[in-house]
Amino acid sequence: MAEKEIHEKPNPYQIAVEQFMTAADKLNLDEGMKQILSQPKRELTVHFPVRMDDGSYRVFTGFRVQHSVTVGPAKGGIRYHQDVTLDEVKALAMWMTWKCATVGIPYGGGKGGVIVDPKQHSLTEIERLTRRFAAELSPIIGPEIDIPAPDVNTNSQTMAWFMDTISMLRGYPVPGLITGKPIGIGGSLGRNEATARGLQFVTREAAKAKGMSLQGARVVVQGFGNAGSIAARLLSEDGAIVIAASDSRGGIVNTKGIDSNSALRYKQEHGTLSGFGGSDDISNEEILEVECDILVPAALESVITTHNADRIKTKLISEAANGPTTPEADRILFEKGIMVLPDILANAGGVTVSYFEWAQNIQGYYWAEDEVNKKLERVMQQAFRDVHETAGNNSVDMRTGAYMLAISRVAEVTRMRGIFP
Ligand code: NAD
Repeated sequence: MAEKEIHEKPNPYQIAVEQFMTAADKLNLDEGMKQILSQPKRELTVHFPVRMDDGSYRVFTGFRVQHSVTVGPAKGGIRYHQDVTLDEVKALAMWMTWKCATVGIPYGGGKGGVIVDPKQHSLTEIERLTRRFAAELSPIIGPEIDIPAPDVNTNSQTMAWFMDTISMLRGYPVPGLITGKPIGIGGSLGRNEATARGLQFVTREAAKAKGMSLQGARVVVQGFGNAGSIAARLLSEDGAIVIAASDSRGGIVNTKGIDSNSALRYKQEHGTLSGFGGSDDISNEEILEVECDILVPAALESVITTHNADRIKTKLISEAANGPTTPEADRILFEKGIMVLPDILANAGGVTVSYFEWAQNIQGYYWAEDEVNKKLERVMQQAFRDVHETAGNNSVDMRTGAYMLAISRVAEVTRMRGIFP
């Protein structure tokens, strides 16, 4: 990313607080409760050495933020990226609190990150970095305190190293301390597709509410990774037609339709979607402005802004990515009558099945995949109904509706528990 773009990127924590305050004002939340809920409970910064393959040492900086542990243990992913900042992790941790409350699962919100570009390191260096970071976080994580998961540039292998390191330190296996694990060590069936499947369930509900059919609906997906590529496949299975898709190197468009399975195979072989047969190349900025019925941002934060919101021609935006739309852009989209299924609802399928994984680990009893998917469908349908009703009753957009619902749930638990001492 160009240096100029990094400087111009809005501060995600400021955005998270602004979104919170908009909903908190609508709820007439008192000042004390606003102060409690708008700040993270704990922020840990660690600087830790890692041995490189050539025998030298490098010190890395990592963060773990627990925004809230009022409803239950903190829950949220760990990201490895060269641009990670404490403010970004604070925003993501706060979004996790609202996400868990929106779908009604008994968790607070947390997030972690390490400032590292994993592409610059070997797998053995990443393993040592992960194990040392896990050891650094050991005092504040565990099945009852804080349960990490994968995020950008971390995966089930990273989670396995994390679980093994903490289990070695404690002297017994602790599968419930982290989710997104490989199936063989306590992962849940259905977890890999869960974010996209949850998005499919709420997109179906939104289409019904708007009187729109998914059959023949034109879909555009920005970001063709875990969330985006699987969402494209699942929406196609519902009869929708994917007409454009992109990855970090650019995008492709074909108004006759793009077969998501073939596009994914092509990306795996060529490392990019660009050049996929029958389609034209398009930039990541242009793709958001392609006329469609459903737009799925599934890559980065702050891609829908005042610079392009006016030119977006769609009926529904289903946010697979966290924080893709800025508050000013939200206002423009609402005025244009575009429904936005906010991240804390649309991508909550991932954390919901993480919760199922943790519940299975604690019981030591594992569920069949269709059982996981059925339970997920019930949670997502209920969450859509709750958010839609709250938004309708208060004449606000779906994001503010979701925030109002989530904040009122967490505030209620905070009030019931009271302040100690
Ligand atoms: P991923 O790493 O699997 O995929 C990200 C995709 O985005 C890749 O295809 C990458 O090439 C593409 N990309 C990167 N930069 C881009 C750019 N500038 N323009 C267009 N595409 C770009 O990650 P993921 O797990 O699919 O996560 C994507 C988003 O979804 C993130 O915001 C993440 O926080 C969010 N999310 C993911 C999950 C999950 O379970 N995977 C759950 C909730 C939210």
